[in-house]
Amino acid sequence: MNTRSAVGRTLRVTDPDARLRLDDLRTLVLWSATDARPPGSAVGAPRLLPVGAPVTVAAIAVDSRRRAFAQVSTAPGGPVLGWTAASNLEGGLLGETVGLAPAGFVVEPDGVAFTVTDNHALVRGGAPGFAPTGALLAVGTQVRVTARSPAGAYVRVAAGQSGGADVGWTALSNLSPGWCPAFAGPEWQDPPGPFGAWDHGKYLGPPVLVRLVGVDGEVESITLDTLGPWLALSSAAAAAGIALDIQSGFRSWPEQAVLYAGFVESRPGFNRAAKPGSSNHQHGQALDLNTGGFDTPAYRWLAANATAHGFVRTVPGEHWHWEYRPDEAPALRAAGRCAREGVAP
Ligand SMILES: [Zn+2]
Repeated sequence: MNTRSAVGRTLRVTDPDARLRLDDLRTLVLWSATDARPPGSAVGAPRLLPVGAPVTVAAIAVDSRRRAFAQVSTAPGGPVLGWTAASNLEGGLLGETVGLAPAGFVVEPDGVAFTVTDNHALVRGGAPGFAPTGALLAVGTQVRVTARSPAGAYVRVAAGQSGGADVGWTALSNLSPGWCPAFAGPEWQDPPGPFGAWDHGKYLGPPVLVRLVGVDGEVESITLDTLGPWLALSSAAAAAGIALDIQSGFRSWPEQAVLYAGFVESRPGFNRAAKPGSSNHQHGQALDLNTGGFDTPAYRWLAANATAHGFVRTVPGEHWHWEYRPDEAPALRAAGRCAREGVAP
């Protein structure tokens, strides 16, 4: 799978106030009387990482406010010093993947491993009719896809992670990519829960989510299906000197509910937000990017190049809102447009 992770990389400390924290990501590490303290550092004061010092990322974690932290050591495999905010390190871990949601997810072998996530997954016979056999596949069953119907709507599956017996055909929409015990859990099957995707009031099912570090170390989620296209788009932009960043990606029902409540109550810092279930950001294909306006290098680059990577604009007036729509992008590109009909400019 095409993901980037900073774990194992050595980076320099760039923030002069790079504090070290304990495993709870909150409690500061303080200088003790027995530490070899640099001049001017008092016992009991927060222990800082020296600016410019190289540290190796041993792990990445996210706190309850979606801020990314790196667990750092003095050298690869060396003693762990503690945790520090991602924004204290060179590059701020921008664009790095933090992990998958739910945890414990296994995607290998990529493209073949699936888990049954529909609670009425019919086993079907083969072509031409793919008629139901009367059997059902249980939610949580891990399968391998061994064949696909010509139009792709049905797949033939074998049981288990390897060497399992042929089960028969089923609709691809009954399956989620990868193997993960959490797929059978109640949270995964809860439409207004943390993993439910929605498209304008219609429940789509649970997508696998990937967490990425954004600017200032804030973590955003995007769907696994959108990760590859996003990395291709952002890498192409980076090669052209444009640092693209996701400011808002996938939102779960609970996350959208917080934004909607803030909007309805006119709380400071909250913008117009759609009702939970109807936001463009709940289906996993929408990304708000750091375009900064219509007349900026980032917007001009996207307007010229995003459709080549399957991304199009879909909301009038929102230069920041792009969606991965590979079915629509080629025709718009051929017409010299980056936005859907009726979406100006
Ligand atoms: Zn948006």
